[in-house]
This record gives sequence, C-alpha cells and structure tokens, in this order.
Amino acid sequence: MRTAIFSTKTYDREFLTAANHAAANPFSGDGASTNPPAATPPPQHELVFLEPRLTPETARLAEGFPAVCAFVNDQLAAPVLEALARGGTRLVALRSAGFNHCDLAAAARLKLAVVRVPAYSPYAVAEHTVGLMLALNRKYHKAYARVREGNFSLEGLLGFDLRERTVGIVGTGKIGALVARILHGFGCRLVAHDMHENPEVAALGARYVALDELYSTADVITLHCPLTPQTHHLIDAAALTKMKRGVMLNNTSRGALVDTQAAIAALKDGHIGYLGLDVYEEEGDLFFEDLSNQVIRDDIFSRLLTFPNVLVTAHQAFFTREALASIAQQTIGNLTAFERGEKLVNEVTVELLRR
Ligand code: NAD
Repeated sequence: MRTAIFSTKTYDREFLTAANHAAANPFSGDGASTNPPAATPPPQHELVFLEPRLTPETARLAEGFPAVCAFVNDQLAAPVLEALARGGTRLVALRSAGFNHCDLAAAARLKLAVVRVPAYSPYAVAEHTVGLMLALNRKYHKAYARVREGNFSLEGLLGFDLRERTVGIVGTGKIGALVARILHGFGCRLVAHDMHENPEVAALGARYVALDELYSTADVITLHCPLTPQTHHLIDAAALTKMKRGVMLNNTSRGALVDTQAAIAALKDGHIGYLGLDVYEEEGDLFFEDLSNQVIRDDIFSRLLTFPNVLVTAHQAFFTREALASIAQQTIGNLTAFERGEKLVNEVTVELLRR
C-alpha cells in the first residue's frame, strides 16, 4: 500500500525499510528455511519518506496516498485530518503509543481508521527515566564536562542515596511498572497513583495512595500516565505547593502534563530541587531537529535551560534499537492488516480514550 511517512529521519528510513523487506520475504528472518527463493520479492508496501512534519501546510503532500504514517509531533487535529480525507487517505498509522495529538472524534467522522503501536519497548523509556534521575542526582553531565577540562574537583557534585528514598509513580501501566521494578532494586520506597492498581507494582510493596499523599510523601516524583484532558497540567502551581521542598520531578511521558511556567516559578523559589524532562509541552517546534545554529525563540524553554538543576533530553526515552525495530515491524503489520481488510488490533478510537 502506498504510504506517505511524515517526519522521517535516517533512523526511521533504516528500520522501516528493513521491516518492509522482512515482511515481504519470509526467508530473510531467522534463516531456518533451507529453500530460499531465487529472487528477493518486492517490499510489502510502497513507502514514501517525507522529511517535513505533518501540518495543515504539508498535508497536501499526502494527496493520493491511502495511508499516512505520523510521529509524535505531527499535527493530527481536525483540519489536517479533513485535508487527508479529501486527498483520499483512509488510514493514519501512528508510529507511537501516545495518541493525544490525534483528534479521534474527527477521524471517526471522516471514516479515517487510526492505528498505533501500543507497546514497543517500555524498557527503553523506563531505563531512560531512571537514567535521568541518576544523572540529575549525581550530575554526570557536569562531571563529564569538568573532567574533560582537567577539573577534578567534587565541589557542587554532591548527591544523595536513592536507597530508602520515597519515589512516587503517577501511572503504573507498562512503563511505570518497569520504573517501579528498577527502583525497587535500588531499595527505594514506592508510592503509586493510578485509577487501576497494578498487582505487579503492589507486589513490590508499592502503596497506592491519593495524589495529594503521593505529592506530600515523595522525594522523587515520576510521571507515566498518558496526556488526556484530565491530566493536562496535572502538575500545576497547586500540585507543586503540595510537594516536598527540594523534590525531584521527572517527566518522560508527555510535556503538557506539567505546567512549565509553574515549574519555572517553583525552580526559582527552590521548591523543585531537580527537574528532569524528556518531553516539553511546546516541543513540536524544537525537538528532533538540529537548531544549533538558530536562535531559540521559545523564552520559556530557554529559561528552563538556565537552571543548573534542570536536565532536558529531546524526547529520546524511546530511542533504542529494540524500540525502533519493534515500532517499524508493528507499523508495517498495521499497514498490511488494513490493506487486507483484517481486524485492526491496534486501532485507536474515541472509546479507548474513555476507558
Ligand atoms: P500504559 O497505558 O501502559 O499506562 C498508562 C497508565 O496510566 C495506566 O495504568 C492508566 O490507568 C494510568 N492513568 C491514566 N490516567 C491516569 C491519571 N489521571 N492518573 C494516574 N494514572 C493514570 O502506557 P505506557 O506504555 O506505560 O506509557 C505511558 C506514557 O508514556 C504514554 O502515555 C506516553 O505518553 C509516554 N511515552 C513516552 C515515550 C518517550 O519517548 N518519552 C515513549 C513511549 C511512551
């Protein structure tokens, strides 16, 4: 099926092309077959890689493509979906688990099917989350630069033992549960908040509590719930005042869970002691691009970067070989299922949002 793939980078091409060939060639897999075909079959789908982000201005590029493939900062609000539908698109395949950027009601109205990759490597995100915590606490980023400059002083690098610290996990699905498991190994005390208790997390000794109790007891708070209308700015000024002074806050989920201006105010008065972000609410104009020769025009983001106790990575928590291979394989599988008229097991609908 002809598919327009937006926001592609070299790594997307590499992994999607490999998965597209592997899907068409059952002999290329584990090498178990002793009778390979004489010629390599054509790839399963006709993938057209486009560099631009999907926006109202670029939606025209997808004209005539039955399928469009999009990533986290592509815009899938109603006007874009309407343009895609007008151009003949019938499937939107997200290369992400999160689908907060897609207007599912509009998609349903336009009879556009939307599929996603519900889980690829929760390990990648969980490991990066704990990496951010360690880096913020022990200041690896500063130590690295210092030692390379011949500065072997330890002044300013003092950290704390994570052992016996209380970590609050908001959202204990696939990623939150893995973070709990890793931190349990560190000897942390765990408190958790979710509307559905995860027995795996409870079995680690985590106590499920109301959000206010989590805020008031945790030394470290880490966010792993999805972005929904209910969780938008979950961490606002009111929530921050309920947290311990000097709290470490980590967000590797979605930027808009945190009200950045409120976080900046709390950093300025010392209420937030450490802030680790892999996501930012206005990341769409920044992340995934090399802007090192340009002026950053987002003053709020620029202010964030001035704090010595803030560490930002540019939405890279998912970025491992295993995750990219799995995203590519499942995306090709989603396209194939749609083309063959099979049941779309990874379809996202408004009903899923309400669950
Ligand atoms: P998941 O669906 O397995 O788990 C999400 C959990 O959050 C569920 O248990 C759900 O009940 C809970 N939840 C929903 N609303 C809540 C609320 N208001 N308060 C508390 N808990 C709530 O999802 P996952 O695979 O663990 O992913 C979590 C999030 O991580 C995704 O929504 C996505 O936004 C983000 N993510 C980020 C990256 C990255 O690279 N930074 C990569 C993948 C996913």
